Amino acid sequence: MRMTGHFIGGRISSPIGTGSIEVVDPATAIRITEIPAAAKADVDAAVHAARACFDERSWRKLSPADRAAAMWTLSDKLLSHAEELAEIETRDNGMPIGYARALVTSAVNGIRYYAGMVTKIYGQTSEISAPERNMLAYSLREPVGVVGAITPWNAPLWTLLTKIAPAIAAGCSVVAKPAEQTPLSAQRLGELLAEWRIFPDGLINIVNGYGSEAGAALSEHPDVDKITFTGSTAVGKQLVRNAAATLKRTTLELGGKSPVFVFDDADLDKAIPVAAAAIFANAGQVCFAGSRLYVQRGIFDRVAKELSGIGDAIRLGNGLDAATQMGPLVSERQMRRVLDYIELGIGEGAELVSGGSRYGEDGYFVRPTVLANKSGRSMRIVDEEIFGPVLVMMPFETMDDVERLANATSYGLGSGIFTNSISTANRAAKLIRSGNVWINCYGILDRSLPFGGMRQSGWGRENGQEGIDAFLETKAVYTML
Ligand code: NAP
Ligand code: MG
Repeated sequence: MRMTGHFIGGRISSPIGTGSIEVVDPATAIRITEIPAAAKADVDAAVHAARACFDERSWRKLSPADRAAAMWTLSDKLLSHAEELAEIETRDNGMPIGYARALVTSAVNGIRYYAGMVTKIYGQTSEISAPERNMLAYSLREPVGVVGAITPWNAPLWTLLTKIAPAIAAGCSVVAKPAEQTPLSAQRLGELLAEWRIFPDGLINIVNGYGSEAGAALSEHPDVDKITFTGSTAVGKQLVRNAAATLKRTTLELGGKSPVFVFDDADLDKAIPVAAAAIFANAGQVCFAGSRLYVQRGIFDRVAKELSGIGDAIRLGNGLDAATQMGPLVSERQMRRVLDYIELGIGEGAELVSGGSRYGEDGYFVRPTVLANKSGRSMRIVDEEIFGPVLVMMPFETMDDVERLANATSYGLGSGIFTNSISTANRAAKLIRSGNVWINCYGILDRSLPFGGMRQSGWGRENGQEGIDAFLETKAVYTML
């Protein structure tokens, strides 16, 4: 890895800012490289390039069929670099290589999904009721303009491409600002895009940098029409404040504290491993991680025992090792935060069922941890997003409990229900206020269905038709005949 620049206007440009980002392998705590951190001037240059591309219609003037073909070319080329990109992701983020490969495949499929939608953007015609009936009236769907995409570190390339694909499919140009902790896959994407030259210059721009400087500059920029953000709820609120000055459109995919309910009639041999995967996948660094597990009282002890057994058996290690099932947390800071939460929970009276400590001495590993809060009393570890492999288990009894407990949170991203009764499952699904409900499964996402959160888990949806609508404006046109 070498020090390079930002991807601006179709080429790798020399950085204007003098700051840098130290990139660390979280499995070893060894520094991998150092890359430039964008200053406000770099962000200005990227926004300028995106604006010029949009205003000169370099992309929009191509036919929809040609734009779709270009996106499909991108997907093919990315697939031919899938292994390299997955390895970069694993070294930078720590995730198991199999997980990284699956995310690259999913991101490529997302590009193809939206490539298919470029040729299917429709307005409507309307027979209007105004006195002047001799009219032709219709609506047009037009790209919103220049999009700023700000992303977190837990699925870096996947999240970036999940935003870029619908944005360019809609005809927008993009300036992306990935998370400082995991800049390498985005930087490599920029180098590859500069080499491939599939798109007009300035359609996609990538600036690595810190949120407080580069992210803030992007979200405050008057020439940016829309911000699409994935990250914490606190930063999401800051972005809304920044967007207010120019009333930028904003889509927010934020945090969660997603509840999973296991009823006593569930097929426990299937439910327990899925509930474990719901919290331990990607070391719990998943926005919709099932981090609150409610178990019907009669089966609580059995579920706690089997689930902690699964946690104890998970193989931790370097993500590049094919046998690894769980990698490290992304950074020392994140590891400390998660360990502090475990200590806090025990201090609040939760019982440590399994895990609860750091693993190894070099990397930022935390053991899969199960805490039990049998009293159901209020605790910070039940309310706050930990973003690590830490599960809090609590008992419940009735359907009223499901509604009350599920919704006793400011979040509303995911939820899980395990039962063999379709009536119980669908009653619970109606009562829970969350953007996604999984019945007898967890965490399955498909491009065809909108993904997003209710309440403080976000604004708007990604994926599906709603995912491209978020990058389109509607114009009404009236013609007197
Ligand atoms: P974060 O601190 O909110 O950071 C997300 C992005 O925002 C990063 O690129 C960050 O830059 C940038 N940023 C920070 N401060 C900013 C500011 N003042 N102005 C503009 N940009 C700013 O989140 P994180 O800690 O990286 O990620 C974990 C959080 O993301 C969790 O809460 C998780 O639930 C959430 N998340 C949600 C989803 C979802 O789809 N709903 C998916 C994944 C993660 P730097 O990192 O460079 O400072
Ligand atoms: Mg951050």
